[in-house]
Amino acid sequence: VKYIVVSGGVISGIGKGIIASSTALLLRSLGLHVTVLKVDPYLNIDAGLMNPIEHGEVFVLDDGGEVDLDLGNYERFLGVTTTRNNNITTGKVYNQVIEKERRGDYLGKTVQVVPHITDEIQQWIQDVSKVAVDGSGVEPDVCVIELGGTVGDIESAPFVEAMRQFQFRVGRENICFMHVSLVPALGAENELKTKPTQASVRDLRGLGLMPDFIMCRSKIPIERSIKEKISMFCNVGVDQIISVPDSRSIYHVPLALRNEGLVTQLCLRLNLGPPPAESLLL
Ligand code: ADP
Repeated sequence: VKYIVVSGGVISGIGKGIIASSTALLLRSLGLHVTVLKVDPYLNIDAGLMNPIEHGEVFVLDDGGEVDLDLGNYERFLGVTTTRNNNITTGKVYNQVIEKERRGDYLGKTVQVVPHITDEIQQWIQDVSKVAVDGSGVEPDVCVIELGGTVGDIESAPFVEAMRQFQFRVGRENICFMHVSLVPALGAENELKTKPTQASVRDLRGLGLMPDFIMCRSKIPIERSIKEKISMFCNVGVDQIISVPDSRSIYHVPLALRNEGLVTQLCLRLNLGPPPAESLLL
């Protein structure tokens, strides 16, 4: 299984879910088996008891799992049926670790966030990534992991650390990091500002994650010169800086990503076989 980890910076609700779903859809359209996993760094076990006014509607899965709306996006975009295990929360992880501790599984060791919580997260991801959600029964080729929250939050820190360790567990060639950032367009001229992106990539690097792709959310498309600037400051190739402007419908986002050459770049980065001809033309 190859892994794509989608993180977000600058603000919440930046479009990580839509970008993760769109990326998964593009890979599925190559004929690959794809699964998805959503990480929610809150202490609730699941979204079942969360106030819908504050949090949005609860999405109920076929197995009765009550989860975040994003799982609904995945199911609609990909035509898959996910399970409660495709949604991992801080509450679920701690619950599991505390149960193990009470059973004596840790043999009297001091139970800590690192390594016990981070190991539990990695094991969960590894186990779930091997289960088919597309009804094929075939082990997935790719698992897209969406890290909820914003990089740098206290809540998401154990998950970010788990992902840092995970890249060594699975090998750098089998995992890539996609960071979604905001590029605000200011004033009547729509002047694009790259500083928030620079700062959030610096935060990410400080936590030990090197982004392979920077997904720039903005009001308007981002031209080459701005990409070059982000590339230089963030140490990511200009072809791996992807413009994701606001679109009229979220269902246009997959095509927009493909037109930015994302499929080609992902195939190269994760060795997913030759990229399809149409994306080579772009
Ligand atoms: P996150 O997962 O980062 O919290 P979501 O993917 O849930 O963010 O998106 C937040 C909101 O922004 C949703 O209402 C979604 O429909 C909208 N949105 C996301 N991406 C785009 C886009 N490219 N164009 C227009 N609206 C978008």
